Amino acid sequence: MHIIWKERIENSMDDIKLETKELNKVDIKSYNLLELTEFVVGLGDKKFRAKQIYEWLHQKLVVSFDEMSNLPVNFREKLKETCRLTALVPVSVQVSQLDGTTKYLFELYDGNVIESVLMIYKHGNSVCISSQVGCRMGCRFCASTLDGLERNLTPSEMLDQIYRIQALTGERVDNVVVMGSGEPFDNFEAFIKFIQLLNDENGLNISARNLTVSTCGLVPKIKELADMQLQITLAISLHAPNDEMRRTLMPIANKYSIQEIIEACRYYIDVTGRRITFEYSLVQNVNDSESCAMQLISLVRGLNCHINLIPVNPIKERDFKQTRQKEIQLFKNKLEKSGINVTIRREMGRDIDGACGQLRKSYVEKCNIKQEEQI
Ligand code: SAH
Repeated sequence: MHIIWKERIENSMDDIKLETKELNKVDIKSYNLLELTEFVVGLGDKKFRAKQIYEWLHQKLVVSFDEMSNLPVNFREKLKETCRLTALVPVSVQVSQLDGTTKYLFELYDGNVIESVLMIYKHGNSVCISSQVGCRMGCRFCASTLDGLERNLTPSEMLDQIYRIQALTGERVDNVVVMGSGEPFDNFEAFIKFIQLLNDENGLNISARNLTVSTCGLVPKIKELADMQLQITLAISLHAPNDEMRRTLMPIANKYSIQEIIEACRYYIDVTGRRITFEYSLVQNVNDSESCAMQLISLVRGLNCHINLIPVNPIKERDFKQTRQKEIQLFKNKLEKSGINVTIRREMGRDIDGACGQLRKSYVEKCNIKQEEQI
């Protein structure tokens, strides 16, 4: 395991001034080509410059305006004054010795940090990205939500997780999964913009078919996404076979019932023709009984779906334990016998910082200790 920690002093006055200045600038990497063209024309420049900038940003993946060598110097200066160029800075990189899975901790322009993961499979490279800094959904087993939501990510910050990983490794990213920290449907507009940019043939041109998004089940957004008729794979974090149990694990269950979620999924399948994935994290003595398996079977029967069983990844703040291997297998067999498509999620990078959100949390805690030492 290899770790690089970049030391930084948080919240100095200089940082705050810089942050405010940057905040008022245009987030140029979140513009689509049409918006970028309007912007460039608005600056008094030629239309074709937009295409050039777009290519530098979304294909050549540069991190500064100075690298845009076919733009006149004074135009580059104008861009520097008016625009913020989102370029995430890797502050920690952990590589699994077991399977090459790499976990990145990236720093954003305002000092916040987020996690992304590169997984190497036989069928291609997959990157798992975060959609928010922190999360406000409050799922009991999840480390990302322990300190609540800090802020939404911009489309450019979602994109740049993929861009940086591609640039750092020199490897083409084939698949993207929005399953890192945050609830993507709680940042819906930015998420949709992100897909548009990811899809663009003038960019990385990663198609919706190669994109999976996971949600804790914000029903209206599931329907909204269905209506857009994209070919995205939708994954639903179910984690319990009835509302009562789900409410003890996921606060969102107080807002939407499982029946409402299933109806929205049926709608999604009908409209898009895509198969849905249900994620079910198995927690010992909580949701792993035979009766749970039976309830789960009757919930999803007849639905074009796949169930992904995830052995829960224990976090130190809670005392949830993983269901034992033997019982996980029994649970799986039960579903299979009823004709349900089911897999057990392979644990990637088991030797590096486990559950979603844990790396960021330990980094933030470390920075806070450093800050206290300085006072
Ligand atoms: N907000 C999205 C993405 C969350 S992370 C959602 O709720 O789907 C992706 C998946 O990992 C979700 O199914 C989430 O419930 C699950 N997850 C989070 N922490 C986990 C943990 N400690 N163990 C097992 N699964 C976890």
